[in-house]
Amino acid sequence: TLSVRELTDWMTRFADSVAARREYLTDLDSAIGDADHGTNMTRGMQAVTSKLESDPSETIDALFRAVGMALVSSVGGASGPLYGTFFLRFGGAAAGAATLDVGALGTCLRAGLDGVIARGKAELGDKTMLDAMIPAVDAFDGAADDLLAAVTAARDAAATGRDATEPLTARKGRASYLGDRSVGHVDPGATSTALLFDALAAAVA
Ligand code: ADP
Ligand code: MG
Ligand code: MG
Repeated sequence: TLSVRELTDWMTRFADSVAARREYLTDLDSAIGDADHGTNMTRGMQAVTSKLESDPSETIDALFRAVGMALVSSVGGASGPLYGTFFLRFGGAAAGAATLDVGALGTCLRAGLDGVIARGKAELGDKTMLDAMIPAVDAFDGAADDLLAAVTAARDAAATGRDATEPLTARKGRASYLGDRSVGHVDPGATSTALLFDALAAAVA
């Protein structure tokens, strides 16, 4: 099971990961967007880690409420409200829980995913973060009733989903303005979502 401490570690790892790949994420976004995904995610997750350091959360729902609010309030781009919604809904599904076992973590991930779908109205294949997130959550649910197996399956599915965005035409977000000129580039948000699941697998291992 995962406690607040391990879930906070997930967030710290994700923050470090996006900061380390800030330029790469921004390069991906310069091909099909406005060249700010790396700076957006780094600024947002920096706001998250500052908040968690100054005011550590004692419960899982408070942790993810803090994470979601910090992202929504510090990131102007599409990714801020979308990731913010993911974490707010994730935390809402954990209300009252002191730890998450594999089943509860799956419920939280599904709630977060459903929030991103409701907020952004995108579908699988639209060349967005959902192309990594939907396969990851589906793989998590389909994995054995074992936490490490489930997060590993989710991580691998997110990476495969990220790679699968390359040949797609974007149908949502800024990249959709390019139409067929978005083909041949990996989606930045699907790339950061793969990092989110990498960080989760690392926090569990
Ligand atoms: P902005 O596009 O506002 O500059 P970012 O560059 O930070 O914001 O984030 C862009 C990413 O957001 C895209 O690569 C895509 O994965 C994701 N995205 C954009 N619109 C949507 C949407 N409607 N649903 C899901 N994800 C989306
Ligand atoms: Mg952008
Ligand atoms: Mg922008």
